[in-house]
Amino acid sequence: MFNIVIFGPPGSGKGTQSANIAKQYGLVHLSTGDLFRHEIQIQSPVGKEANRYISKGQLVPDAITLRLLYKHASKHINDPGIIFDGFPRTLNQAIMLDRMMNKKGIKVNLVIGIEVEEEELINRIKHRSRTSTRDDDDEKIIHNRMKIYHQQTYPVIEYYQKQGKYESISGMASVETVFQRLCAVIDQYKHEH
Ligand code: ADP
Repeated sequence: MFNIVIFGPPGSGKGTQSANIAKQYGLVHLSTGDLFRHEIQIQSPVGKEANRYISKGQLVPDAITLRLLYKHASKHINDPGIIFDGFPRTLNQAIMLDRMMNKKGIKVNLVIGIEVEEEELINRIKHRSRTSTRDDDDEKIIHNRMKIYHQQTYPVIEYYQKQGKYESISGMASVETVFQRLCAVIDQYKHEH
């Protein structure tokens, strides 16, 4: 299996890019944000619980997130690979993902971070909020999401750096250019392994 984690702050374009990469390389796209939004839409108990956090721009507690992620990831154990988008977002989630994969004899092969300057991120999300149906794209909530990214998600980068799996690219370019940069990193990895 070839498993990738796409990493990046809110507004970095990781959702769009993950979908494109999944298509290009025949991977399953698993976005915890999308999974939660689906649960909210169908008004399931998980959705109702998760929405208490998401609507404030906070992270959903690990126990809920991990349960939902396992449920979906375990369906794809025999597929060519998974691209994780928006997960792991805490150090604990990263450790638990490794543990889960170890048990199945698989691993995270590559982690790619999309780097975008904060000012640009805020502008992009503000722009998206004009047409978005996402309550968490509200300006006050965006700032909270950024703060949480720096406090809780940033340490995950270091975790993968120590494993020698982390690569980063600049996301300050068009969707097409960023996609090409991501493909170049993936192709290089595939060439070397
Ligand atoms: P973005 O990265 O633009 O904030 P996402 O769709 O990835 O958008 O996530 C939206 C929200 O869903 C997050 O702000 C958070 O509340 C929740 N969420 C998504 N993934 C996770 C996760 N791995 N752990 C905890 N909460 C999550």
